[in-house]
Formats: sequence, structure tokens, C-alpha cells
Amino acid sequence: MASSSNTDVAIIGAGAAGIAAGRRIVDARLDCVVVEARARLGGRAWTFDHRSACPIDLGCGWLHSADRNPWRELAEIQGRSIDKTPPPWMRLSAPIGFSLSEQAAFLQAHREFYQRLDSLADQGPDIAGASFLEPFGRWNALINAVSTYVSGAELDRVSARDFLRYEDSGVNWRVVEGYGSVIATHGRGLPVVLGCAVQLIDHGGRRLRLETTHGSITADAAIVTVPSAIIAEESILFRPHLPEKTQAALGLPLGLADKLFLSLSHAEEFDEETRVFGRTDRSETGVYHFRPFGRSQIEAYFGGRLAFELEASGDVGFVDFAVGELVALLGNDFARRVKPLRLHRWGADPFSRGSYSYALPGKSDCRTQLAAAVDDRLFFAGEACSPSDYSTAHGAYLSGVAAAEAVIAARGMGR
Ligand SMILES: Cc1cc2nc3c(=O)[nH]c(=O)nc-3n(C[C@H](O)[C@H](O)[C@H](O)COP(=O)(O)OP(=O)(O)OC[C@H]3O[C@@H](n4cnc5c(N)ncnc54)[C@H](O)[C@@H]3O)c2cc1C
Repeated sequence: MASSSNTDVAIIGAGAAGIAAGRRIVDARLDCVVVEARARLGGRAWTFDHRSACPIDLGCGWLHSADRNPWRELAEIQGRSIDKTPPPWMRLSAPIGFSLSEQAAFLQAHREFYQRLDSLADQGPDIAGASFLEPFGRWNALINAVSTYVSGAELDRVSARDFLRYEDSGVNWRVVEGYGSVIATHGRGLPVVLGCAVQLIDHGGRRLRLETTHGSITADAAIVTVPSAIIAEESILFRPHLPEKTQAALGLPLGLADKLFLSLSHAEEFDEETRVFGRTDRSETGVYHFRPFGRSQIEAYFGGRLAFELEASGDVGFVDFAVGELVALLGNDFARRVKPLRLHRWGADPFSRGSYSYALPGKSDCRTQLAAAVDDRLFFAGEACSPSDYSTAHGAYLSGVAAAEAVIAARGMGR
């Protein structure tokens, strides 16, 4: 990019939302530039080693609501293989440290917890999900652990109302070649500037002016798709200041969830696609997905406060914790059968600062506030802006398309 450039529409961020918005803007024959801080496309969608036989999704992996997920359709158009094996969380786990009768009791307690949550009238106070736990319930710790995987945070931090607004069709599929590959491929050919961070958006003049690490861009409109945590910490400054955006983003922190991939020798001893909880009596536990896609691997998942603590102790902290939990379940020799393959610390990543958004208690309306356009020329998208598909890659896609449509309509080009 030249030290100063000019476009109709500037899109900030080339994740799922920015790529979807960029495609729609280009299809409408508007001039645009997508400005991306990282050296790659995809943001929190990232398939590592995408050319290998075992590509690894370090970010999104599941096509949630796959029957209505636009990325599924795009994956099919790209000729990808869709794996329709039901996810481990919708089946019984291996009875390792968790007997089948205990699993039945846990599932029943979990169902009852959701029923209590469902009974929350939309007009009632917007309180924490933890309020719906049974006092001193036997399975509260594990229900909380599941919340750290689903929301990236424990239930005391999560708005029950926002949680209820999430729409899940219950169909969860995967892309064998990697979800991240699908999203990055969809971005190929767009006018993207990689490795260029936006630092300031001046919306005080006749045209917008963006200051970036590689010079300035003037534009008639902009779509901001960076994670809510980036807006909350004001890594991008708005001039004049937009305190309502900072406040909305503060109400929608990014929860933390990190995946650690381990190789597993003599994997055939375990069933494919089976799940094991490290512990069932505390919320600080990993969940271990054995043999995803039948591979000789374990995908370990850590969320919430535990993930924050492990991130502070570096990559080795994750490996030690995972091996410690697995050895406690499967015996000392098991340590020799696993080797770390790959991990990404999303909380430490300066361009995400977490994994996916949740709303704090009392802050469920922040999603609409974050998504609202400013002066019909500064638009917002990204998973956190989605009222009912937040935290997902398809929610990001839909929000990106919606913002692009709004730009097109504002410029009098609507069909
Ligand atoms: C471990 C993990 C597991 C997940 N699992 C799933 C799953 O199974 N299914 C699912 O649907 N979702 C899942 N998600 C969530 C999903 O990945 C995200 O919701 C989605 O990718 C977000 O897309 P986005 O476009 O809103 O944001 P992002 O992908 O974060 O895109 C924003 C872009 O903005 C860029 N940016 C940041 N700051 C600047 C700046 N100053 N200037 C320019 N660019 C900047 C970033 O680099 C990034 O590329 C998971 C996420 C993680 C981390």
C-alpha cells in the first residue's frame, strides 16, 4: 500500500466478517480495501498446516448450525469434504474417570439447568447464568466447566439473557481440510493489505481518514470488524471519540478458549471421536477429544479462568496440565504416548485478545449497540455484533454481509 491511498469502502480486519463484507462490496462493484493487521487471512479462523494430511483448526472447527451455516455451502462449493459425525458433546463420553451412570446423572442435571434458564422471562432482570445453578448441586462444577468451553467464561460472568438469545439448530459438522482453510480461501483475490494495523479512524471530516502502520487511507465508508476486545482496549482510536462503542465492547468481553493438539501413539486403543473430561469435580478442567477424524491425536480444550492461568505459564503450562490430567486417568505410562503438536494462545494474541464474545450480566443489549452504524458511514460487524449467532464464524459472516448491505444501501446502490 502506498503511504496514502483512497477508496470507497475500507474494511478493517480480514476475519470471517471482513472477508464476507469484502466479497459483498466487491460484488456490488464498489472500490474497497481490506486492511488486516496479521500476515494471514482468517483471524480467529486458522487452519494450521493446511496442506498436510492432518490440518489443525486452532480457532473455529465446528460448523455450528451447519444446516443453515453459509460457510458450509461455501465449503461445498470449494469442493471440501464435510464430516457429519455427531460431535462428542452430543454423545456419551468414554467411561474413563466418569462412569455411565454418573454421565446420565450429569446430563440430567445439565438439562434441568437449561430448563431453569429457559424459564427466565425476557422482561426479567438480566442476571448471571450462575443464578440458575441448583444450590450446592452435585454437578455444578462440571456445568461451569462446560460454560468455559461454550462461552469462554464461568457462569457467574455470563448474561443468562444473552445466552438464551443464541440460536442453535443442533447440527454440528466439520470440514476435513479445516474450517479456517474455507474462510481464508473465500478471501483470496480480495484487495487485502496484510500486516497493516489500523490505529486511528478519524470520522470528523467530510471523508473518513484511517491512520495505519503503513500510511493513511481516505474512504467514504468503513466497516470495522475487529474483535470486541480490541475496541474495548481502544487499540483503534476513534476521533471524535465514540464512548458508546467502548462501553458496548466492554460489555462484550472475549471469553478465553485454547486448544492444544497432542499426537497419540497406539491410538487404536481408544474409540474414534470420543471425549474425556480431565476431572468431573472442578470447573478448572480440560476436555480431551480423542482421535478427531480418526486421527492419532488428542484435541485438548481449556476455557475460562483455567485458560487464563495456563496462558500465563506459557505453552509448557498447557502441556504439563494436560499430561497431568491424562496420566491421573490413564496411568503414568500414558505420558510417553503423547507429544505436543500445536497450541495457540488466543488471549495473548494482540489481534484477538481472546476467543469469542459473551455478554456480562446486564449487558445483553450491548450487541445491538456495538452493531449500530454511526452517521451512515461507519459500520460495525464481527461475531460480537450478531444478536443470535454470536461467538461463531457463521455469525461473523452474517454480520459482515449485513454491514456490507447497509453500506450499499447508504450509498443508494441497493437492489
Ligand atoms: C479456540 C477457538 C475455537 C473456536 N471454535 C469455534 C467453532 O467451533 N465454531 C465457530 O463457529 N466458531 C468458533 N470459534 C469462534 C470463531 O473463530 C470466531 O467467532 C470468528 O472467527 C470471528 O470472526 P470475526 O471476523 O468476527 O473476527 P476475527 O476473526 O477476529 O477477525 C478480525 C480481524 O481483525 C484483525 N485486526 C485486529 N486488530 C486490527 C487492527 N488494529 N487493524 C487491522 N486489523 C485488525 C484481526 O487480525 C482479525 O483478522 C472459535 C474460536 C476460537 C479462538
